[in-house]
Amino acid sequence: MTSKETSTTKRLWWVPGPLIIGAGPSGLATAACLKDRGVPYLVLEKDCCIAASWKLRTYERLKLHLPKHFCELPLMPFPQHFPTYPTKQQFISYLECYAKRFAVEPLFGARVDRAERDASLGLWRVRAGESEFISRWLVVATGENAEAVTPEIGGVAEFRGRVMHTSCYRKGDDFTGEKVLVVGCGNSGMEVSLDLCNNGAHPSMVVRDKLHVLPREIFGISTFGLSVWLLKWLPTRYVDWFLLLCARITLGDTEKYGLKRPKVGPLQLKSTTGKTPVLDVGTLAKIKSGHIKVVPNINRFTDKGVEFVDGRKEEFNSVILATGYKSNVPSWLKDEEFFNKNDGFPKTRFPNSWKGENGLYATGFTQRGLMGASIDARKIAEDIATQWNSKPKHLPCGLL
Ligand SMILES: Cc1cc2nc3c(=O)[nH]c(=O)nc-3n(C[C@H](O)[C@H](O)[C@H](O)COP(=O)(O)OP(=O)(O)OC[C@H]3O[C@@H](n4cnc5c(N)ncnc54)[C@H](O)[C@@H]3O)c2cc1C
Repeated sequence: MTSKETSTTKRLWWVPGPLIIGAGPSGLATAACLKDRGVPYLVLEKDCCIAASWKLRTYERLKLHLPKHFCELPLMPFPQHFPTYPTKQQFISYLECYAKRFAVEPLFGARVDRAERDASLGLWRVRAGESEFISRWLVVATGENAEAVTPEIGGVAEFRGRVMHTSCYRKGDDFTGEKVLVVGCGNSGMEVSLDLCNNGAHPSMVVRDKLHVLPREIFGISTFGLSVWLLKWLPTRYVDWFLLLCARITLGDTEKYGLKRPKVGPLQLKSTTGKTPVLDVGTLAKIKSGHIKVVPNINRFTDKGVEFVDGRKEEFNSVILATGYKSNVPSWLKDEEFFNKNDGFPKTRFPNSWKGENGLYATGFTQRGLMGASIDARKIAEDIATQWNSKPKHLPCGLL
């Protein structure tokens, strides 16, 4: 990397290899695969550490939702002694070792606020604060979950209790004895409700939409793994039928407890809308026993709680918004060809979501978790390595 002072930006850096934005699992996986192929790169990370989403924005009792062999990054398996579903701390330690093994040393505190292709130079210009980086290749690895989504709910200023997004929730012990409303019933909402319940709080969970809840395991085999295997042999609708039959046998009729199922099966729904089925880790049993209440959507906050859409009012000490996340790509990447400016995802879907035009790439936007990120990382490294190894590698001297 070489640099030069300019009048408009403090420093201008020439990066001979690709620039990777984000040092989460996707960025690390891409960096490791590039390293393995002998291609230099630079990782820019806005926070002060690798895996910031896991270290700074998740709750303490989080475990991987999927079995470990579906979550390992390229070129380095999980340690054998890790359980099937590693804890958050174990996953972070794995990522730390991964970064160390492949000598990934991101530039921390570098929040990219603008990236644009300079067509006259045929290069990407990437701005982070007062520095500008220039490279032939730009790899977007800022994640599907870069920003918390917080809905606007009327009356929030009146409410005298705590309101927080799940990204700020750490542990149920902070809410012991409290009545807590969890808004949202995806995997996070379900798990936070369970954590609250297990720590002496009294959670109610807002269920607004229809959703598929599946057991995490069927006859001792992970539901995810079983689905992947069955899909090799059967069409999606048969696998969906089988999953719903197993869910009915193991979990019973979830509709009785206010969790209505969509008409479309769980895998078909995932492939058409990206909506992930909830893998139950014990929340349903607490709903059945009445320890977690299912409530309708909120109409507005009151000073001591909320009014639901059915007009009923209830008091709560705290409200936790399990209302999801969104990509932040449209806020900084000036490109409307590859990325959709509304949702911040590549317009082309998996398995073609990894490569755009003119040296632009995306890792980890497949809606297929860490497995999808690993597939992207390998393809990107292979593609860039081919270009890197073909002449000319570098820009003519004196460009900067
Ligand atoms: C609670 C939870 C549990 C999950 N469990 C699983 C699981 O068990 N299995 C699975 O396969 N998937 C799981 N996922 C989904 C997904 O695999 C993870 O979210 C994973 O962290 C995605 O990695 P990533 O690197 O793409 O994104 P992130 O981990 O979010 O990393 C992106 C990085 O980019 C940085 N960044 C963002 N914007 C900028 C910017 N403008 N400039 C510089 N840096 C920036 C961020 O600080 C962050 O470090 C889970 C997701 C959540 C939210």
